Amino acid sequence: MTPGLNEPHASRPAADEACLEPVRRGIDPLVFEQSRPGHRGLDLPPAGVPEAPLPRLLPGVALRAQPPRLPELSEPEVVRHYTRLSHLNHSVDLGIYPLGSCTMKHNPKLNDELAALPGFAELHPYQEEDEVQGMLRLMWELEQALCEITGMLRVSLQPSAGAHGELVGILMIRAFHRRNGDAQRDTILVPDSAHGTNLASATLGGYKIVELPSSDRGLIDVTRLRQSLNERTAGLMLTNPNTLGLFEEDICRITSLVHQAGGLVYYDGANLNAILGRCRPGDMGLDVVHLNLHKTFSTPHGGGGPGAGPVAVGPALEPFLPLPLVQQRAGAFRLDDDRPLSIGRVKGFYGNIAVAVRAYAYILRMGGEGLRQASGDAVLNANYLRTRLHHLYHVPFDRTCMHEFVAAALKQKARGVLARDIAKRVLDFGMHAPTVYFPLIVPEALMIEPTESESLESLDAFVEVMRRVDAESIEAPEVVREAPHSTPVRRPDETRAARRPVLRWEPDIA
Ligand SMILES: *Cc1c(COP(=O)(O)O)cnc(C)c1O
Repeated sequence: MTPGLNEPHASRPAADEACLEPVRRGIDPLVFEQSRPGHRGLDLPPAGVPEAPLPRLLPGVALRAQPPRLPELSEPEVVRHYTRLSHLNHSVDLGIYPLGSCTMKHNPKLNDELAALPGFAELHPYQEEDEVQGMLRLMWELEQALCEITGMLRVSLQPSAGAHGELVGILMIRAFHRRNGDAQRDTILVPDSAHGTNLASATLGGYKIVELPSSDRGLIDVTRLRQSLNERTAGLMLTNPNTLGLFEEDICRITSLVHQAGGLVYYDGANLNAILGRCRPGDMGLDVVHLNLHKTFSTPHGGGGPGAGPVAVGPALEPFLPLPLVQQRAGAFRLDDDRPLSIGRVKGFYGNIAVAVRAYAYILRMGGEGLRQASGDAVLNANYLRTRLHHLYHVPFDRTCMHEFVAAALKQKARGVLARDIAKRVLDFGMHAPTVYFPLIVPEALMIEPTESESLESLDAFVEVMRRVDAESIEAPEVVREAPHSTPVRRPDETRAARRPVLRWEPDIA
């Protein structure tokens, strides 16, 4: 029995009490518990050769004392088990997933199919460049597309995720200042609305952080910025639109002020979905940008699977890009390792290449107009939700937003219901919850990002759920406080679930 799980929920039909106990919990028995001697998924044909005594093939130390305790199941049992498991968590394939900052949009299945084509999926990273010209060309063309989308000069596809891209960007900024004899620049400015990874990346890169308080409009306070800039400033990291879903209206002044002070400006591109095809970080004066291909460009994410965080740079940082870059020479594509100022390698081989294939397929299929429409629809959907919900939920910066907005469950808190409770209650209606308690500057934050994939009907259904949860916070707050009521797992003990998760099955040795 997994510790920290709550009581069973009652909605499933109870059958034969004893043997269906786990079904009533909504949680399948483990494959090991389902194992029955003799159940088989596959019958192997007779070997056709005499059995060789194992010790002749393997040295004794490599031999098990006993055969492994593998579960025995038939194919339908395995299929049902894993299909049921796959439904224990909410996913974007099951319903709306308005998890702010994460851009949980629909990822066309075609892009998965293309990434799985044998010509891509079965390449070996040690193959000769002449044998992988197609892949190198794809990397090259994806780089060109990302340059066009961001307005930057060159892109490294190497980093594995947004946070990794941030670190790479910071290391390039550091290399730039050292090269200029400016090693005394030891601080990075970060707005107080920033994603936690920004502070972590700058710190890992060896920098001190100076936090910039947001203005009362939820934006970078230009006066405070000017006061904070000095000869120790290495750069500023910002997100635009920022994590409140608001566009930094003074962006061009901000980048030019930092440049005048000798610093560089980092663009956290996690929110690129809001501006695709409309404006470009390069045109706003940014020096380095990371993109989260798994957010904006069609790789399913959220389960901890591979992502990719390419970094795009302008002229100042181009010499410092990690190795290798794809070059086109004499009609062929080559991996260029000869870049003396490069910060070096940041990832093995080609990076998370299947993510790049999906992004490439997505961008080609959408085209410029399609990407532009995606950002327009994402912004429209967020504003629709904001204007339908702001009477019920306090919205601290209540004006036209970009692809997401941040509400604050303050009225509900006064009734004894927290943002966390609201998030849990939303799950009961087959929807994912908004992001909660981020950004940190908004108390009881509910950060809502519908993305462009949701239809009007789906947005209306979400509004209805949020309306109902608000009504419950008045009429039956305990229903919200005790939610979720219908999920397979209710409220785990948050500390024990994080600190002492039970992730392995241990055989019962007795
Ligand atoms: C998701 C996110 C990141 C980090 O990206 P990962 O790919 O998860 O490492 C950074 N900044 C913001 C604003 C984000 O939403």
